Amino acid sequence: MRRADDVSLRRYNSFGVEARAREVVQLDSLSDLEGLNFDPACDLVLGGGSNLLLANDIEGTVFLNRIRGMRILSDRDGIATVEAAAGEIWHSLVLWSLAHGLTGLENLSLIPGLAGAAPLQNIGAYGVELSDVLESVQAWDWQSRERVEFSNTDCQFGYRDSRFKSGDAGRYLVTALRLRLSRQFEPRLTYSGLGEQLAKMEISSPTARQVSQAVIMLRKRKLPDPALVGNAGSFFKNPLVTCEAADSLRSRFPDLPLFAVEGRHCKLGAGWMIEHCGWKGFREGDAGVSERHALVLVNHGHASGGEILALADKVSESVFETFGVRLEPEPRIIRG
Ligand SMILES: Cc1cc2nc3c(=O)[nH]c(=O)nc-3n(C[C@H](O)[C@H](O)[C@H](O)COP(=O)(O)OP(=O)(O)OC[C@H]3O[C@@H](n4cnc5c(N)ncnc54)[C@H](O)[C@@H]3O)c2cc1C
Repeated sequence: MRRADDVSLRRYNSFGVEARAREVVQLDSLSDLEGLNFDPACDLVLGGGSNLLLANDIEGTVFLNRIRGMRILSDRDGIATVEAAAGEIWHSLVLWSLAHGLTGLENLSLIPGLAGAAPLQNIGAYGVELSDVLESVQAWDWQSRERVEFSNTDCQFGYRDSRFKSGDAGRYLVTALRLRLSRQFEPRLTYSGLGEQLAKMEISSPTARQVSQAVIMLRKRKLPDPALVGNAGSFFKNPLVTCEAADSLRSRFPDLPLFAVEGRHCKLGAGWMIEHCGWKGFREGDAGVSERHALVLVNHGHASGGEILALADKVSESVFETFGVRLEPEPRIIRG
């Protein structure tokens, strides 16, 4: 465990905004947790910093989760249970599983961040969500100061949501994930762009590694690289509305993308709505909306968290005025 006082968090968040922490504690092993306290009102657990916007300094302690390790716990009848410690880089875990002949994570290739944050918002991409392969989450309960385990159902996963992000936010530190991966590959290519990318690569019956490569190529083309321009991926969730509300919007906006989900609800394409309102490529100082993808807000250099948040509010307000639908941010906004 290492400690430092008055630390700049600029290199710890993918937006690259400046904010300071009173103290930073790096966790290297589970035993580090035993003597520590956590106050959700002023402390913060940080993974790769790719799903938050620091709109203020952190008055308390930032815990950097760097607990490492990946292993196969069981491997029978074509199904393996893999355990990954929370401090592993998510994409390294995807590549490691593929190198061990295990499939299930390929569609989730190249999502930035660490494994420990993956259950927080039930990461998802290209038609697959973490909840499709997650067996259980190991966590540290800051309140009762003991190790706890949550089954897939206990995690209360939803679209970009879980108990760790909503009802129990700040109560648990995720220490490890157990994933159920398969030795028999079943491609999931329902996301249309993925099939098209594989066709471009002249691959008709892809292996899991080829699906991973196709996802990597698509992501590199579509999303700005945080190493070059600060961002946190999609800044807004696709809003969920009743199918009746979606149909009524469709009659006014025939090109509005809709995706049917369970329970007579539909997801609306937030990126399309933002682009329709004219925001794509917009820039105000160093805060902007990506030219590549209207759902991604970017820091062109020295924007503050507050400036990015102010732009997000304007985007959201104009979408509400046009469509009558409220956009909800996907990253966690840290207001201090
Ligand atoms: C270019 C880009 C593309 C992206 N694409 C996708 C995508 O396709 N799909 C998707 O779902 N997301 C995507 N994201 C968002 C992000 O990568 C994921 O949400 C990722 O899981 C965040 O991991 P992190 O370690 O960076 O989390 P952080 O940003 O460090 O933390 C996010 C939240 O989780 C909490 N947290 C972190 N670690 C722990 C822990 N061990 N225990 C308890 N709480 C913890 C933090 O306190 C914070 O509230 C993208 C981001 C970027 C920049």
